[in-house]
Amino acid sequence: MKTIYLDHSATTPVSEGALAAYCDASRLTFGNPSSLHAVGKAAEDLLTESRTTVRGALGATDGTLVFTSGGTEANNLALFGRAYAKERYRTGKTILTTAGEHASVERPLAALATAGYRVITLPTRGGVIDMEAATAAMNEQVILVSAMLVNNETGALYNIASLSACMKRLAPEAILHCDATQGFLRTETSPRRLGADLITVSAHKIGGPKGIGALWVSPAVLKNRGLTPYLLGGGQESGLRSGTENVPAAAAMAEACREGVRDRAARMEHLRALEEHLLSLLQQIPQIRCNRAPVSVPHIFSITLPDIKSETMLHFLSSRGISVSSGSACSSHGRHGATPLAAFGLSDREADCTIRVSLSHTNTAGDLDALAEGLRAGLDSLVRMRP
Ligand code: PMP
Repeated sequence: MKTIYLDHSATTPVSEGALAAYCDASRLTFGNPSSLHAVGKAAEDLLTESRTTVRGALGATDGTLVFTSGGTEANNLALFGRAYAKERYRTGKTILTTAGEHASVERPLAALATAGYRVITLPTRGGVIDMEAATAAMNEQVILVSAMLVNNETGALYNIASLSACMKRLAPEAILHCDATQGFLRTETSPRRLGADLITVSAHKIGGPKGIGALWVSPAVLKNRGLTPYLLGGGQESGLRSGTENVPAAAAMAEACREGVRDRAARMEHLRALEEHLLSLLQQIPQIRCNRAPVSVPHIFSITLPDIKSETMLHFLSSRGISVSSGSACSSHGRHGATPLAAFGLSDREADCTIRVSLSHTNTAGDLDALAEGLRAGLDSLVRMRP
């Protein structure tokens, strides 16, 4: 049976090039970048080159890129790092965020709320940040605004630039953190365009290995010591993240970025064609509904089924070799705030019946035909939930 993988927002396969870069670095450039001899220097050089490449892929020309163990750690560093830096100066304690953030933003903010910070969550109904609520909440007490670029469940592409412009106008003490994990290399992530001071990315969503990601830090935040590290030790990564650097993973992430930048136009054109094809296939299945924001990325689709539990459909499709995700169930586990689907406006029952399909440039129109056929067969044969 052919495997049809449609869960690229969970993770992507590692590209051959990235894997080769990982192996080469492990074998040939195994030194500790902090060592002063030639073997250490070679590792340091490869790390520096990788950092420059990833920073370039992000669209940044300045600032520092701090390698972390992934998107989760980068988000934690941004949020706790900013809150603790500001604590030193005893300034405001308000943090703004959006409804339906990834758990690696939502949970640190819940912890900060418990520690006495005032966390205000802006509604994102229909996949759009409520700018009236944002305008009303901005003031000189706000020290941080944290908003994702692309929602990992719905594919909604948020207008970070206008949130940043609003922040700069009304909240002079604040900086903007953007979790760009699901948008990196597939939509604009340049700090200048987004108006962001901190940006999170992760390698395993773009054909790199798991366990590495990065936080881009603006020159102003660096200069003002606006971020306090919480991993203390040897002072690596500009003092912001101690620990011997994972040079092979950084080199592999850089290679995935090189490929992503080189093939960006072709990949995006392909993804847009797949998007059009999938939307027209879904339109031909009247029982289902696609939860689409007015501005969306072309690679993430949230699909609500008529009274069939997402997990039931997931297993049915899986038995046909098709992998999709039932995002709402796993992200709702132990959550404090609204799940992304509830934030979008779905009821609990609808969210329970919603699957996520996420594509990459490696998918084909045939994969989507097989998905549509699988959905039809599932709708015909699966037992419906009782009212
Ligand atoms: N943010 C978002 C929006 C994500 O989708 C994910 C991964 N699911 C993360 C952060 C966490 O990234 P990582 O798996 O690299 O820790």
